[in-house]
Amino acid sequence: MTISPIHFYNKPDMSLTGQLYKLQQLDLELQRRQQELSEVADQLGDDKALVAAESKLALQKEQLEDAMRKQKSSEWEMEDLQEKVRRIGKKLYGGTTKDPKELVNLEKEVKGLKSQIGPKEDVLLGLMSQIEEIEAIMKTTTEDIKRLKREWEQKQEILGQRKSEVEALIARLRGDRNGLAQQIDSEALNTYERIRLTRAQAVVKVEGGKCQGCHITVPTSQWQKAKVGDLIQCNSCSRILYLE
Ligand SMILES: [Zn+2]
Repeated sequence: MTISPIHFYNKPDMSLTGQLYKLQQLDLELQRRQQELSEVADQLGDDKALVAAESKLALQKEQLEDAMRKQKSSEWEMEDLQEKVRRIGKKLYGGTTKDPKELVNLEKEVKGLKSQIGPKEDVLLGLMSQIEEIEAIMKTTTEDIKRLKREWEQKQEILGQRKSEVEALIARLRGDRNGLAQQIDSEALNTYERIRLTRAQAVVKVEGGKCQGCHITVPTSQWQKAKVGDLIQCNSCSRILYLE
C-alpha cells in the first residue's frame, strides 16, 4: 500500500476539521501498521512445526535403540540355546555317555531346547522387521525436518524484510503525524485526543445530513458551521463533524 500523507497537510486551504480528519487517517493507519508489526514479530522465530518434527525424530530414535537392544539380547539368547544344544549333542553322540537312562534324559533335554528355538526365531524376525519399519519412518521424518528447516529459513527472511519495511513505514507515519499535529490548534487537538480515547473515530463525515458516527440527523445550522471548518461536535455522540 502506498501512502503519501505529506500531501495531506501541505494543502494551504485545509480547514481545522480537515486537518483533524487527516490526522485521524494517519492515526488509524499507524494503528494498523503497529498491529501488523506485532503479528510479524510474533511469527519471527516461530518454529513450532520444526521443533515438533525434531522431537518426533528423537522419540523414533529411542524406539529404534530399544528395538535394537531387544534384537541383541534375542540374538544372545539364540546363541546360548544353540550352544547348549551343541554341548548336549556332543555328550549324546560323542560316545562318552554310556548310561542309557542318562542318554534318554539328554535326548529329552535336547528336544526341549530345540522346541524353544522356533518361537525365539519368530521373536527375532519380528524385531528385525520392527527395526526396518522404524528406520523407514525415521527417514521420512528426517526429510520432513530438512524441508521444514528450508521453509522456516525462507519464511524468516521474508518476515525479516517485512518487519523492516513496516518499521520504516511506521517511522514515516509517526513523523507525518507529529508534523501535522504541530500545525493543529492545541485545544482542538485535545478534544480530538479525548474522543479518541473511547472511540476509534473521533472525526466523522456528515452525509445526507446525518452524523456518520451515530447516524442521527445533524441540525442544519450545525453542519453549516462544520462545513466552513468550525469545530462542531455531534449533539448525540460528541464526535467532531467534518464536511469536505
Ligand atoms: Zn453523532
